[in-house]
Amino acid sequence: MNERLLAYYDDKLATLKSKHNYRSFANINHRKRYISIDGGERLLNLASNDYMGMARDEALHDEFMQTVEHDKLPFASSSSRLLTGNFEIFDEFEWQLQQLFGRACLLFNSGYHANVGILPALCDGRTVIIADKLVHASMIDGMRLAAQNGTKTVRYQHQNLPQLAKLLDKYQQDDGIDRIIVATESIFSMDGDVTDLAALVRLKRCHDKVMLYVDEAHAVGVRGERGLGCAEEFAVIDEIDFIVGAFGKAVASMGGYVICHKIMREFLINTMRPLIFSTALPPVCVAWTQFVFSKLIHMNHERQKLMTLSQQVAATIRRAGLPCPSASQIVPVILGDNQRTLDAAAMLRQAGFYAMAVRPPTVPQNQSRLRLCLSADLGQQELDDVLQVVSGVINAAP
Ligand code: PMP
Repeated sequence: MNERLLAYYDDKLATLKSKHNYRSFANINHRKRYISIDGGERLLNLASNDYMGMARDEALHDEFMQTVEHDKLPFASSSSRLLTGNFEIFDEFEWQLQQLFGRACLLFNSGYHANVGILPALCDGRTVIIADKLVHASMIDGMRLAAQNGTKTVRYQHQNLPQLAKLLDKYQQDDGIDRIIVATESIFSMDGDVTDLAALVRLKRCHDKVMLYVDEAHAVGVRGERGLGCAEEFAVIDEIDFIVGAFGKAVASMGGYVICHKIMREFLINTMRPLIFSTALPPVCVAWTQFVFSKLIHMNHERQKLMTLSQQVAATIRRAGLPCPSASQIVPVILGDNQRTLDAAAMLRQAGFYAMAVRPPTVPQNQSRLRLCLSADLGQQELDDVLQVVSGVINAAP
């Protein structure tokens, strides 16, 4: 490649390094809940989204492998579902999720595909998307694509429902707008706080142009009696027009889904570009997702345990003097400064724990944090050690 062109990008990398925002891959060796990085010491993994411990459950893998009939479950779908990539297992699993949620289901290759594809498909110049300020990058990208069709996009302050209500009143009365999509997450990926879905539904009832779009990526498998997410916990499954989820976290697999009206499912099959133009998931992967999901439905006891230990960690952070917005298994230790956060991550590592130091642009300026991801399979001793090291890190900070 031309030296002058390369130098331009190399300079950009140098800027990222100077701002402590440079990213690189590590060589990670996994042993159940523990990892070692670049051949280093064993660390308890507090950065994984395997919230229910299903991805590292070897007995579960063995059990699944015994059920696999290779002729029915290939390792590749070899085309989009609209060509020849639609295998029986896709329809079977969608049907099963439809029975559970009570509405139609459509599977996708990932949560990212879902968000980046559904939003633009639903929108046109007479639609406005009103989204929480902290929604995930995949929804932001979905909104950017939607904006190319003339869709208006508006953000409200994180969890500020009174501000959202005012925006809804405004666009409900706007003759240039026919549809309003309110887009949010149920459990926010960086703060771990939970949206009051019942309050959102009440707002929707007063505004008949509104469709609710809720990303449950961090809640599926973790919340609700059967693990169907916060929509189940708040008893509003029927009222959320688009419940989107991802299988790469508690469901220990790969893929995404939307629960919606059957007409909307049909519409998405006909209009959603990441579904139409991308190779479908491997059938064996869908079978594994279905297998894990069928176990998760019955794991309410583990969900309760995860909730209790998450509350203990959040309470420890608050006692040590930091505000903690979390009401879930994602518990941030918000330290503010980039360097201070990197130092805290290094301290944790010395004590045998690995947690991500999350910095801008992933989180707003001056909100750098350690992001602790807890899991239902943490032992009591491990939890006690986590509580101790977290207090130590906060007290040691300048
Ligand atoms: N939504 C949210 C809230 C997420 O946190 C993520 C992944 N971090 C996604 C969607 C994307 O899901 P996937 O990893 O399946 O692409």
